[in-house]
Amino acid sequence: MVSCERCSKEAKMLLPYGPHNFCEEHFLYFFENRVRRTTRKHGMVKAGEKIAVGVSGGKDSATTLYLLHKMFSRVNEIEAVMIDEGIPGYRDKALAEGKALCKELCIAFTVYSYKKELAVSMEEVKEKIDLNSGLGSTCSFCGVFRRHLLNKGAVDVGADRIATGHNLDDEVQSICMNFFDNDFSRMARLGAVVGSNGIKGLVPRIKPLYESPEKEVIAFAALKELPHYSDECCPFSSQAKRNYFREMLNKMEANLPGTKFSVLRSFEQLKPLLEKTAEHGKARYCERCGNATTTSTCTVCLKLDQLILEKKVAKKQKEKTLTCATTKY
Ligand SMILES: [Zn+2]
Ligand SMILES: [Zn+2]
Repeated sequence: MVSCERCSKEAKMLLPYGPHNFCEEHFLYFFENRVRRTTRKHGMVKAGEKIAVGVSGGKDSATTLYLLHKMFSRVNEIEAVMIDEGIPGYRDKALAEGKALCKELCIAFTVYSYKKELAVSMEEVKEKIDLNSGLGSTCSFCGVFRRHLLNKGAVDVGADRIATGHNLDDEVQSICMNFFDNDFSRMARLGAVVGSNGIKGLVPRIKPLYESPEKEVIAFAALKELPHYSDECCPFSSQAKRNYFREMLNKMEANLPGTKFSVLRSFEQLKPLLEKTAEHGKARYCERCGNATTTSTCTVCLKLDQLILEKKVAKKQKEKTLTCATTKY
């Protein structure tokens, strides 16, 4: 029997990167303490600030909401922002769990839906992509829309910061993907705190689970019995590329414990240099919708345009086929 390093009980959580061996109680203490240190080290939360938390209904955001509430609700107002992408049989189930957690913790929440805010659900986007693969991936639309609505939600509730559930694995996968893609300007925008660059209308984003491995977040949410939807895989996303990096990093972590933390530390050392060289677009506002952006038209409007154009192209093609059909006979 392996004993817990803090007491005489049997260790249930073996963390080879430490190495650390903990019983359930001391694992929970260790996990929580690390999140507290992460928030302090990166100056994520200041006394009196209002924090909006993006809640998806999954284990990451459930853990983020639970811990921010536990650590800061005495001096900080905390409110949840939920996004309904319009993915039937998936997000509706997850949001029900998110709402249950908010009710348990007595936290106010608002739901923003793609359909209501942007007039298009992800189910409709998926239909268009199925007709024309040239539009790109569902995730490229969903990511832009989600970031926009999370920010809008944070602005609407008057939040100073928006917390998301990104964990160590998510962050390290993104770092490696950008490195392998030679996309350093995108890499410069990663990190524990993503500032607003002084752009009014953009709320800085914080990632309290930035140093928490995914496996441990799963264990924490389960041991604490936090209401959450555990089928995390979105039915619309294949995420083939990210999955490839996830597998590679998990294999490396199993053989070389500590790899993920090591990649994160390397990135932290690189980040100041990346920021120096990265181009910072000037703060301006979208000509069409007024969103904070660095270009004349914001990415949300550009993505919505693609879908409208697609509609027009499809209509034209239909007309063309009809004309051809008539001339033929
Ligand atoms: Zn113990
Ligand atoms: Zn716009």
